[in-house]
This record gives sequence, C-alpha cells and structure tokens, in this order.
Amino acid sequence: MKAHTPLVIGNWKMNPATVGEARKLFLDIRKALGRKNRQTVVAVAPPAPFLSELERLSPSQRMALAGQDIFFEQTGAYTGEISLPMLKSVGATAVIVGHSERRARGETDADIYKDIQAIIKAQVTAIVCVGERERDTQGNYYTVVETQLRAALKAVPKAKLGQLVVAYEPVWAIGTGKVATPEDVYEMKLFIQKVIVGQFGRPALKKVRIVYGGSVKPDNAASILNVGRVDGFLVGGASLKAKDFVAIIDHAETYAKTLA
Ligand code: PEP
Repeated sequence: MKAHTPLVIGNWKMNPATVGEARKLFLDIRKALGRKNRQTVVAVAPPAPFLSELERLSPSQRMALAGQDIFFEQTGAYTGEISLPMLKSVGATAVIVGHSERRARGETDADIYKDIQAIIKAQVTAIVCVGERERDTQGNYYTVVETQLRAALKAVPKAKLGQLVVAYEPVWAIGTGKVATPEDVYEMKLFIQKVIVGQFGRPALKKVRIVYGGSVKPDNAASILNVGRVDGFLVGGASLKAKDFVAIIDHAETYAKTLA
C-alpha cells in the first residue's frame, strides 16, 4: 500500500510567553524551511491567543495552523473554553485532541469523543493522542492504547477518516528525554493499524495517518521513521527551536523520498 506523505506538527504547549516571541518563532521556522517544495506537511499548534497574529503572517499550506484543544460546544456559557468556530475563524485547520497533558487535567474518553465529533463535523483535522502512562512487562499498555483508540474511532464516520490523525504518544516519553525505541514504535503502529482495520476495514489505512510523539529530536527522528515506519511526528519541546524543528522536518523529507 502507498505510504502517506509525512506530517510534522509542532505542539508549542503554553509557550512562548508573548505574542512577539510567537511571531519570531513562527518566522524563524518559516525562514529555516526555505522556499523549496516539500512533500512533508507541516503544522504548528501555538497557544490560541497567538493564532490570529500568526494567521496574519499567512501560514499557507507550507505551514498550517492547529489548535491545542477545543470544547465541543459552539458558543455559550462555558468560561475559559475555546470552540471550534473560534479556532477556525483564526486560521486553524487542525486540532490536537486528547493530549495526555489534557487527560491529566481530567479530560476523559467521553469528552474526547464529543470533541472529535465536533472537529470532524467542522471539516477540520483531528490529531488524536493516545498512549500509555507506563510500560509494564505484561503488555497491558496495548489495552490502554486500544481503549483510548476505540473511544476515539467511534466518533469518526468511515467517510471522514481522511480527517483523522492518530498520534501515538507514550506519556512516559513526553518531555522526559526518554524515547520509545523505533522497534516499539513500529509494533505499536502495527497494533493501531490492526484496531483501525478491525473497525473500518483495510482501505481505512489509506486515509488515517499514524504519527509518533515523545521526545522526538533531530538525532532520533530518522531511525523512528525508518524503523518505526510512522507517518510523521507530533513534536513538543523541539518545536520551540526553529533549527531543531526544521531538522526534524528535513528527516521526514528524506524519509518521504524513500517512499516514492
Ligand atoms: C507532546 O507534547 O506532544 C510531546 C511529544 O512533547 P515532547 O516532544 O517535548 O516530548
């Protein structure tokens, strides 16, 4: 089956501190990306208050904008929440959902289900994070990932699978410097594919991208792609350094050439 062109998303989390710094980071990334045509799809997910300023810098298809989370309702008395129409109105074409840092603050599979439904309905890409908190020796982490994944997949109609990206993010690897081995990434990718095929059939694999996140850096990106065979990355810490983020994108680009 033809592989997907890679996708690399930078999750800036609650960084940087000011809109001026966000503008600088965005422009630094854009400059480092240069003008050459790339197969890799690139997106950054800045904090929501910075989106409209970055949209003004015309992100274009070369670097799309994503939200870090949404609340599924459209408008109303939900203090502190951000809706999908709001994110769309400031240029977001994708949204991260179910990030472990949101789950750790109480977000449940039931919340995530509603969020994904809203995202899909709004014709936006849902980047759904799944991943175990720890790796045990009995393989229970597969059950954790399967449960999260099944809850998410229920929210996506078969005809809309092209709007789904699954990000395998083992929680123990996020922001810790510990990274899953490329072989472990490959095994989990196959497992995620198996669950997707079980629910939607084999053709679904042509639609859904599976990316990896967890301490991705320029020096581990190539092996995770070449051995892990994932369709790209969700990058946290390293996406805050333009040089590192673009070095990771360059590895994705080299990998893309091996798929042609
Ligand atoms: C993330 O927050 O999704 C992430 C993968 O972070 P880091 O790359 O810093 O581990």
